[in-house]
Amino acid sequence: MTDLLVRGGIVVTRDRSARADVAVEGGRIAAVEPDLGGLAASAREVVDATGLLVLPGVVDVHTHARVATDQRPDRFFDDTVAAAFGGTTTFLAFNNPGTGASPAAARSLLTGLREWRAATAGDAAVDVAPSLVITASSEDAAAEIPAAIEAGVPTFKAFMVYDFGLDDATILGALEATGRHGGLLEVHCENRAILEALTARHLAAGEVGPRYHASSRPPYVEAEATGRAIALARAARAPLYVVHLSSAEALAEVRTARAEGLPVFAETCPVYLDLTEDRYAGDPEAAARFVISPPLRPAGHPEALWAGLADGDLALVATDHVPDRAAVEKQSWRESFDRVSNGAPGIETLLALAYDAGVAGGRITLERMVDLLSTTPARLFGFASKGALAVGLDADLVLFDPAARRTIRGAELHHSSDYTPFEGREVRGAVRSTILRGSFVVRDGAFVGRRGFGRFVERAIGELA
Ligand code: MN
Ligand code: MN
Repeated sequence: MTDLLVRGGIVVTRDRSARADVAVEGGRIAAVEPDLGGLAASAREVVDATGLLVLPGVVDVHTHARVATDQRPDRFFDDTVAAAFGGTTTFLAFNNPGTGASPAAARSLLTGLREWRAATAGDAAVDVAPSLVITASSEDAAAEIPAAIEAGVPTFKAFMVYDFGLDDATILGALEATGRHGGLLEVHCENRAILEALTARHLAAGEVGPRYHASSRPPYVEAEATGRAIALARAARAPLYVVHLSSAEALAEVRTARAEGLPVFAETCPVYLDLTEDRYAGDPEAAARFVISPPLRPAGHPEALWAGLADGDLALVATDHVPDRAAVEKQSWRESFDRVSNGAPGIETLLALAYDAGVAGGRITLERMVDLLSTTPARLFGFASKGALAVGLDADLVLFDPAARRTIRGAELHHSSDYTPFEGREVRGAVRSTILRGSFVVRDGAFVGRRGFGRFVERAIGELA
């Protein structure tokens, strides 16, 4: 019995786009064929997708959706709703300090996993999974990694910066453990010693405003650390995933490694593809909204990153969504630029920007966009049932209107932040409906999902090449 039949849209996969019908049964894709009209009479529901693109649900592998119960206890739920409005049907969240994780979670990966599962149980409107942060307080991360992978969480994150960041020897040990047991280590690559020295130099000169954020961590700070992470992964004979790559110099490091055949994968984010460091000039309160790390880069870097996405040296696009609020967390700009809470929201605007700047802008093909936003993230992060429109996979679909135009307005977004770095940005294309495992979560622009329909997804990473 066909539960849902989506008819007449342009079905897009990483390989091709073609007019086709999609049949859904029991939450999974049962058929994708040029004409499934024979099923229409008996299908429980038939949806007309004429004029629309039918895309696989977006898989956002980099968010900091918060589970903390503060004055707005629904922040995690809100971010899952925002994801659905943006066409994201599955996302990963880190449990690093500041996202609601306890000190006990910082000491033990398995405690962190239990805590995150308990804190998010019954809350999500889309499918979710955690990526576990290894901190300087982790007591024996390398020993816990196999058990976490066994429990369906094969990805981990190490920071080279911040108080909870790791030294090279600990990162090497984590890479050896993930490499040996079928996991993947994600690394935030910046040189901590240099950025602390440059920050101290600015502060000593009385240069305390957000305008000094970018010059306190220029591209070579990222490139050196990226090259070092690659060397550590090479020594460990392990795959490496570089998060939020922002500069042409860091991309060159990844490109060299990949040319040598090393399993090095890197993501970039819409903020680095669409914005430049001139956002730090002017009004400091406005500039604080763009304080992210790595920082926005000078003109020229975004085009280098687009070229990396087009030629395959960059593996995918994810958001690095941080639901900091301009009126709350970002107010720390009044102390000094190095005290500003780092990060910007983006969970709802990933597909909008990738389609507008990438596809409509002529920088990547529609098929490449689907690969970058759905297929490759699902494969690298072990979401076996996600990421493509193929028989047997979860029926996670986005009905996208390529002819629509809209203006991104923070006030109209659904996330748990109070602003967007893309305020006023006009985009071509719009999500009409989002379907998760065969059920509408967003329908014709309205939320029709429910809290708790989203599931915790157990993952297992296959061969990475
Ligand atoms: Mn980071
Ligand atoms: Mn991040």
